[in-house]
Amino acid sequence: MIKVAIIGSGIGGMASALWLSKKDYEITLFDKFNPLEFNTSTGLSFNYTINLRGKYSLKKLDLWEDVQHKSIRLAGRIIHSRSLDIYQKYGPSSRSSLYSIPRHKLIKIFFDKIITLSNINFKFNKEITNISYNNDSCYISYRDRISKIIHIQEFDFIIASDGVNSQVRSIFADRLQWSLEVFPWAYKEFKLNSNEVKKCKLSLSSLHIWSSKESLCVGIPNQDKSISLLYCASNNKNFSLKAKKCIKALFGEVKTLSNFDEKKGWENL
Ligand SMILES: Cc1cc2nc3c(=O)[nH]c(=O)nc-3n(C[C@H](O)[C@H](O)[C@H](O)COP(=O)(O)OP(=O)(O)OC[C@H]3O[C@@H](n4cnc5c(N)ncnc54)[C@H](O)[C@@H]3O)c2cc1C
Repeated sequence: MIKVAIIGSGIGGMASALWLSKKDYEITLFDKFNPLEFNTSTGLSFNYTINLRGKYSLKKLDLWEDVQHKSIRLAGRIIHSRSLDIYQKYGPSSRSSLYSIPRHKLIKIFFDKIITLSNINFKFNKEITNISYNNDSCYISYRDRISKIIHIQEFDFIIASDGVNSQVRSIFADRLQWSLEVFPWAYKEFKLNSNEVKKCKLSLSSLHIWSSKESLCVGIPNQDKSISLLYCASNNKNFSLKAKKCIKALFGEVKTLSNFDEKKGWENL
């Protein structure tokens, strides 16, 4: 059997594992965390919006019904400004809608399917630290985050799906002399609970956008009638203060969930 390692068990890694499991492959899925114990300090988004393409893939993997059941349909978006709110429908039919689902729920749906398959092996809390290869094989070095022991395992193929700060990409960037330019923006995540959503009279069937010359805030509704807010702006020393001020001006005092700084990474607040 051909041995494939997939690095990263986000939606990219899990979907790749499910696709490959249909063929005669022995798949090992690595992640430096336990994907079921997700919290925002891992630096991952907390909502997904699924479009027609995502829906197509999920249907092919027989996951769509479950995802649809746990998501909320967004027929359009509302662009808010001081003077008026503009509603834009996503398309002529309900097929064009987006579906919003919290990340942990989508990951759990993938996970529950994967554990029923005998040719996918999960390795959680294993952080990939290096990759080497010769003509026939690749070797993955990974560190067990609990025991701190480094292991080396041989594979025929490696698929890297380790996200925005990809360790695999930096391993190869060093070897191939690539360079990486980081978009100099920072993010902060907030959440409006159902009472705050009601008070602000925000629709739960649309995505919300508040933009200015300097910043963008996106609101994504959830099934529990809360709205996840993502505030993005240029990363400078006043970022955090500006974010809180802007959110306060829009919605009053709301809970900050996490903070992302290009230099410091993610931190829970
Ligand atoms: C702030 C923010 C907000 C976003 N909001 C949205 C949104 O609202 N809607 C939407 O559709 N998309 C959103 N996105 C984009 C979305 O998060 C990504 O497109 C999607 O998560 C990419 O999936 P992935 O599986 O490729 O990577 P990820 O989801 O990033 O998963 C990568 C996995 O690799 C693991 N990993 C990383 N390094 C290693 C290593 N060295 N060894 C082992 N494992 C490793 C990580 O633990 C993680 O589980 C947002 C992204 C960000 C940053």
